Amino acid sequence: MMSLSRKAQGVTPSATLAISAKAKAMQAEGHDVIGFGAGEPDFDTPENIKDAAKAALDAGYTKYTPASGAPDLKAAVAARYERTHGIPYGADQVVVSCGGKHALYNIFQAICDPGDEVIFAAPYWVSYPEMVKLADGVPVAVSTSAADNYTLSADAIAAHLTDKTKAVIINSPSNPTGTMYTREQLEGIADLALERGFCVISDEIYDEMVFEGSSFESIATLRPGMDKQTLIINAVSKTYSMTGWRVGWTVGPADVVKAMGGIQSHSTSNPTSIAQAAALEAITGPQDAVPMMLSAFQTRRDAISKLLAEIPGVTYAKPEGAFYIFPDFSAHFTGDIKGSNDLAIHLLDTVQVALVPGGAFGDDRCARLSYATSMDNIEAGVERIARALA
Ligand SMILES: *Cc1c(COP(=O)(O)O)cnc(C)c1O
Repeated sequence: MMSLSRKAQGVTPSATLAISAKAKAMQAEGHDVIGFGAGEPDFDTPENIKDAAKAALDAGYTKYTPASGAPDLKAAVAARYERTHGIPYGADQVVVSCGGKHALYNIFQAICDPGDEVIFAAPYWVSYPEMVKLADGVPVAVSTSAADNYTLSADAIAAHLTDKTKAVIINSPSNPTGTMYTREQLEGIADLALERGFCVISDEIYDEMVFEGSSFESIATLRPGMDKQTLIINAVSKTYSMTGWRVGWTVGPADVVKAMGGIQSHSTSNPTSIAQAAALEAITGPQDAVPMMLSAFQTRRDAISKLLAEIPGVTYAKPEGAFYIFPDFSAHFTGDIKGSNDLAIHLLDTVQVALVPGGAFGDDRCARLSYATSMDNIEAGVERIARALA
């Protein structure tokens, strides 16, 4: 018998998979399942981006690029941050990875020694704790609630700092809640980071997916010198509806970026050359698809919020970006429904609606609904949920 490593045994496989596998199986059997599980935009990748990939393929752009990413893409990413963040990053401060997830994974590999602690808000994106553990770090999930918009205050972070604290993760807008940090909150966290010397990992994957009335701020820009202590991650995945292409990046201090490139050179090497060419077009080409998708998500956010608010006992923090809402269903936990997983199974069994149990994100009172789906599905799906909970 081959025995598994302690690390492999310590990884929690995605708890969301069981529900989505069941939903898929039911769909395959011909059941009319309405899915709110999607973690990706429902639009096609814009035409100009697909054309750039086809052109790259035809031009023979099919060989290795440098392991840390193609020089033209790195330069374009650096220029993008000069434009959006007002910080003159150099191309040596950019490493291109196989999606935002891979960028985050390599960050923890590069900065964590055994026992180093990484603080983040719960509910959290499912991969944060597992990635930290895979880097021999210790995840420190700090509970937040709808009342504080699911954000961490500087005080809450300060209360969890130890001499082992290596980094704090900020994800704004957030997956799974869609909520955002205010500028004042981020300034407070930046002041604390500068005073106490921890690094901030700013997961900015939804920075261009922010609705009217809110605005994106990067913590890296809010205090002089904060960029030297911040690792920004982003990807083309969500903004350009390119989840399958697998291109993301980290922007930050050159020494960390270089270490990440080194790690990458012994694992994946470069992201697919053709996908990098497509990402270059995504960043530098026409941007009109971005506001088009954003406007559709805002219309759907308005619709799903209104419909969910009409269900007695269901509450939520209003999403300001991304394409998720994270309602609290705990008022309906009775009888056999003891938590979010039971609720998800109940909704799937009784009214054929699939959503993701909040337990997977560290908050068992809630469930995540993605509104990256049609308005018809939103209306019919929430009506079914209301019926099942009545
Ligand atoms: C989708 C997502 C990512 C990364 O996605 P990739 O598909 O790997 O580019 C990172 N963080 C959050 C919060 C996400 O929702």
